[in-house]
Amino acid sequence: MTTALQNVLARAADPDEWERFERQLRATGYCRRPLRLKGRVDSVDPKTGEVVRTYSTEDEPDGTLLKCCGNRREAVCPSCAEVYRGDAYQLVASGMRGGKGVPESVTEHPMVFLTLTAPSFGPVHSRRVDGGQARRCRPRRDGGTCPHGLPVGCSVVHDEDDERLGEPICAECFDYEHAVLWNALAPELWRRTAIQLPRELARLVGVSQKKLRVRVSYVKVAEFQRRGALHFHCVLRLDGLDDNGEVVAPPARFTEQLLIDAAQAAARHASFLSPAPPNATGRPIRWGGQVDARALDEETSKLTARYLAKYATKSTEAVGGLLYRLEGDDIDRLRVRPHVQRYVKTAWNLALRRELHPLKLRRWAHSLGFRGHCFTKSRRYSTTFTALRQARHEHVLRRNGELRDRSSDVRRWHYSGSGYRTPGDAWLAESGRKRAVEQRRVAREELRTNPLEGRRR
Ligand SMILES: [Zn+2]
Ligand SMILES: [Zn+2]
Ligand SMILES: [Zn+2]
Repeated sequence: MTTALQNVLARAADPDEWERFERQLRATGYCRRPLRLKGRVDSVDPKTGEVVRTYSTEDEPDGTLLKCCGNRREAVCPSCAEVYRGDAYQLVASGMRGGKGVPESVTEHPMVFLTLTAPSFGPVHSRRVDGGQARRCRPRRDGGTCPHGLPVGCSVVHDEDDERLGEPICAECFDYEHAVLWNALAPELWRRTAIQLPRELARLVGVSQKKLRVRVSYVKVAEFQRRGALHFHCVLRLDGLDDNGEVVAPPARFTEQLLIDAAQAAARHASFLSPAPPNATGRPIRWGGQVDARALDEETSKLTARYLAKYATKSTEAVGGLLYRLEGDDIDRLRVRPHVQRYVKTAWNLALRRELHPLKLRRWAHSLGFRGHCFTKSRRYSTTFTALRQARHEHVLRRNGELRDRSSDVRRWHYSGSGYRTPGDAWLAESGRKRAVEQRRVAREELRTNPLEGRRR
């Protein structure tokens, strides 16, 4: 701490530099691992070719400009993840209630919340709640042991924070290979389900798919369960097709119930085998038995948007997984719970099989085989992250009175590192972030207790 304190005091010794450093921290949103850039921007008058203004990082503290890391994961950078979560919320919510280029009439479209789970890969400790009461994990009247000599049942009533939740009852009985293959192929399973959806809709209304004239738009997040398998939560919205490709309400016979039936049928239908060597059979890749589809109303829509946005900033956190891609001998030094180690090592070893090369399992071992994005949407569901970021950027420029044509700017940047140069700078950023979070909380609180007062500010 002495060094951090010395760093902070050194910064504070020059009030002007202190002020500029603080301004940079604020501009990155108190990012935890910002990029450090050096360089200059020459603003050129496009008519005369003359340099009218020059910005150089030489005048900045340490001759460096900080740029936020932009990571979406809360465990990596809480402040950048907060921005991402806000954007994810806007993406989900605007597809439900309109805005950001989506017509408000979407509120009239059938909308369904679909949850797809993985099948079982072996019994795990779980907390079962039945009629508001927690039940025993896996009661077996006759006891009995598995081929590895372990009891097949578990009569414990697990607490919500029990470390054993999601752990296999016998690790040797748990089919890690199948679980990894399933995680790796889940994006393909989803793709096939999405292709099957309009087919099921056509079947249910009794027309050919060509004459269907509706389309399912969706947004979905992947969520890891403690047992290491994925869950998918999707919002499905049924859109009509007009001749100009605009999003319009579908004909009246396309009801919410029809969409629910089609989604369940599509989920049951989608199934294939994992790649296998010649003369062998692959593992079945299909959804688990619980396919939950329910209609969304105004109230549940809001909760759902918040829920999806929250999961957009996570990955394997719920299983206590790894944050970064593994290299070389990392595999021998994994500091995660044994169950997750088995997943990671299984993925690492399966990668050697020729038929599984396309799954790039070493690259995705840290995410237990899953190589998809945690947050995805169909093109027409709503706007994009890029569009939201651009709008925010322009808003800042407009506020600072800097919005002008920058196409003629000549930029010469080079990257000089990432993260803070000293522990003191990192400490300043972290305490700044906490202060900003607290200020936002107080502002929200004031708005709630005295809405008029809050508005006048
Ligand atoms: Zn960041
Ligand atoms: Zn148990
Ligand atoms: Zn066993």
